[in-house]
Amino acid sequence: MQVFGLLGNPVGHSLSPPMHEAGYDELGIDARYVTFEPDPDDLGAAIEGAAALGIAGLNVTIPFKEDALAHVETDEMAARIGAVNTIDFGGEGSPAGYNTDAAGVRRSFAHHDVTLAGTDAVVVGAGGAARAVAFVLADAGASVHVANRTVSRAEALAADVDGATAGGLDALERRVSNADVLVNATSVGMEEDRSPVPADALHADLAVLDAVYRPLDTRLLRDAREVGATTIDGAWMLLYQGVEAFERWTGRGAPVDAMNAALRDRL
Ligand code: NAP
Repeated sequence: MQVFGLLGNPVGHSLSPPMHEAGYDELGIDARYVTFEPDPDDLGAAIEGAAALGIAGLNVTIPFKEDALAHVETDEMAARIGAVNTIDFGGEGSPAGYNTDAAGVRRSFAHHDVTLAGTDAVVVGAGGAARAVAFVLADAGASVHVANRTVSRAEALAADVDGATAGGLDALERRVSNADVLVNATSVGMEEDRSPVPADALHADLAVLDAVYRPLDTRLLRDAREVGATTIDGAWMLLYQGVEAFERWTGRGAPVDAMNAALRDRL
């Protein structure tokens, strides 16, 4: 039996075990996906121990995503984002570190037939999720504007992204009115029924991805649906980062529908 898992602290409410195990069951792969909560000071020992035990792959979440960079051989996207969320122990030498959040964003848009090349895109937020989103959009040929409550963080992110501009939340209404793509990569909408974007700015030609997945149907998505915009909820991003990790680990096409159903059953 192969063992995969998740390193984080806390990981009690993770949706990854049922999502991945639905994939193993669908393909008849003899594997299990378990969660581990090492002490924050023991990340290096945990990764070395996992390799020694023959664990096949690990996802990595808060608070370890950034520190994991020091313990694995990262690919280019993980290095640009500055965070690792997937470790593959399958190759020769050091474990390989990836950031499949980027693929999660890219594949979410592709699933909904949203073309990114040549679009004007607004990313709200400047944390870890926003970094992955901004790189994906720019790499796909979008012009990216990063808007964040703390403007200096938006500026720091935009400086790393080809051709990106930065600003605060005050100019969001004008920016979004003229945009083709909008991504909420803040946590606004999780705790309260609030949108980070004024509803008046939304329009029918906009594709809106909300990274928030608890709740699934956020205020932003409801506002966007009301004006006829294309809406993509945060479970798609969560699904496709998992799908990407599953495919890297197993070398097989993931059973996306089975994994999606297992995820949505629990949201
Ligand atoms: P993070 O690094 O902590 O960044 C949080 C961001 O939210 C920052 O830009 C912060 O602005 C902003 N923010 C927080 N409270 C705010 C408020 N009251 N008003 C305006 N802005 C506020 O978090 P993260 O890891 O990037 O995650 C961001 C969101 O994405 C979370 O909801 C997370 O669950 C979600 N996410 C989803 C997926 C998925 O697969 N669907 C993957 C990763 C993350 P400041 O810089 O001004 O503090």
